[in-house]
Amino acid sequence: MRITDFALIFIGVVLPIIIIVYINVSFTIKAIEEESYYQKIINSALEDAAMRMKEVENDDKENDYGYSGEINNKVSVNAQVAVNTFFNSLYNNFSIKGNKDAEKHLKYFVPAIAVIDYNGVYISSMEEYDTLNSLNQLVKETNHVVKPKRYFSFTYGINYNASGGTKITTDPTTIQALSNQPGFSLHTVEFSMDDYIVHRGNKNDVTKTYTAKGFYIGDTNNNSDLYDGSTDVSLKTNIINLLKSKRKDTIIDVITRELNFAVNKNNHYANIAGVKYTFVFPYTTKEEMYRYVEDIGMLAFVQGMSVGNKYLNYKAYGGASLELSTKYYVSTPNNGANGSKYFRNLYHKDIKCPEYIVSNKVNITPQYVNTKQQAASLKAAISDGEFVEGFYPCPLCRP
Ligand SMILES: [Zn+2]
Repeated sequence: MRITDFALIFIGVVLPIIIIVYINVSFTIKAIEEESYYQKIINSALEDAAMRMKEVENDDKENDYGYSGEINNKVSVNAQVAVNTFFNSLYNNFSIKGNKDAEKHLKYFVPAIAVIDYNGVYISSMEEYDTLNSLNQLVKETNHVVKPKRYFSFTYGINYNASGGTKITTDPTTIQALSNQPGFSLHTVEFSMDDYIVHRGNKNDVTKTYTAKGFYIGDTNNNSDLYDGSTDVSLKTNIINLLKSKRKDTIIDVITRELNFAVNKNNHYANIAGVKYTFVFPYTTKEEMYRYVEDIGMLAFVQGMSVGNKYLNYKAYGGASLELSTKYYVSTPNNGANGSKYFRNLYHKDIKCPEYIVSNKVNITPQYVNTKQQAASLKAAISDGEFVEGFYPCPLCRP
């Protein structure tokens, strides 16, 4: 072969291959760069939103979750603020702020946002609704809408048979079948990020109804509705253990179900808007989900934007961390000279409280609790085998 033949082979065969490989590689590199650029924008939007979503509600004396650090204040989340902040941050970083059409189009690529609160979850996703336009005409509008909070609910029933035995059931079909049986009791609890629950229910017994009541699962001074006030120790233990074991899975199930529904529904709205992408719930392990529900936070999916030669499929999480900042310190009276002024078991909000300083507090287990309810019903160990039960608010530091 002559040298010119080699040259022709090179130009006709090898060169095109080199060019194709080069173009593909540079496309891929560009796609990866672009993808990580998008991910950065999404992460920072989510961090902004998670920070802003905490808000303090005043005068909520019923549910003192012990989170706020201030007396009778409860920190809760504002889902609408969170979702608005998230989208605003995206608009700014994608430089489309103020361009209403672009802003709206971007929302189709966010099939679902979950704002995970202490005792429930808010889902924001595309929704069609009626609205009035500038000419006062009724028109259909599609936009991201924050749906009402879904609580982390769990239902069980207790069946009492004639021989005095009991059976706990969690199967919906069995519960349905037994619902009119004499003596059968139906219970619904709303779980939260810790052991605090809200319980309601009824028993087919002189029509007994349990109105909503909040307490800690293991708080034996307040939890008797859970087991119909029964003195059966094993029934009591089994129900407490059942609730403790079902808490996390119930929370995960509720969040997953709601997100799945929203993501699937987005296909319908996105399709109408001309987006050709199939939205699906992104692959998530159970371990990941457990991590997401350890504290209040926010989870967002962003999918379907084209990056290089593929599509973005990204899941971002931001925790807001409520932090159990409130501590109520417990003390027992010190009867010695220069001892306690009040001869009661007390709880204090401040370790600098003069009454706390002169009282007994060292050999008490636990030395503090996070809520007033816990303090009021606390059974604290003071020495081997000895307990004191029930603490009162200190009249000096007024917790
Ligand atoms: Zn005090």
